[in-house]
Amino acid sequence: MSVVLPVAQRGEEILTLKAASVTQNEFNSAWLEQLALAMQVTMLERNGVGIAAPQVYISKRVIIVASRPNLRYPDAPEMPAVTMINPEIVEYSAETCLGEEGCLSVPEQRGQVERAYAVKVRYDTLQGERVEQYYEGFPARIVQHEIDHLNGILFVERL
Ligand code: ZN
Repeated sequence: MSVVLPVAQRGEEILTLKAASVTQNEFNSAWLEQLALAMQVTMLERNGVGIAAPQVYISKRVIIVASRPNLRYPDAPEMPAVTMINPEIVEYSAETCLGEEGCLSVPEQRGQVERAYAVKVRYDTLQGERVEQYYEGFPARIVQHEIDHLNGILFVERL
């Protein structure tokens, strides 16, 4: 069983903090698995395409990226939700693009944000396996938006 968690809103301190890395002894733990599951349920309930742990009041470097086609991005790829632990962007494309963003923590506002068109992200799975993955377009935008949350940055600061 899993619960929908409350989502922190703009102005709350938790959203301004640099989140702590998940430590070795937290991998493969029920706590981390339950956190990821609750984040996913919360994201889906709010119709989000991504979520970061600080948004549910956990200052840890955990994000979920779950692109799917939507009104603003009808060509966005549908992908299974990917949970990324301690994600780090290791390569940015020189090419950038403007795209509209919203945020579960800033529900009343949307805006055009310039981001790298493509990124290579390195992260660990819930089991602690290291993965490197290339994303472009909308999924790359989500990755950058969610990692910003881990560094205490909201998209409205990039407008
Ligand atoms: Zn957000």
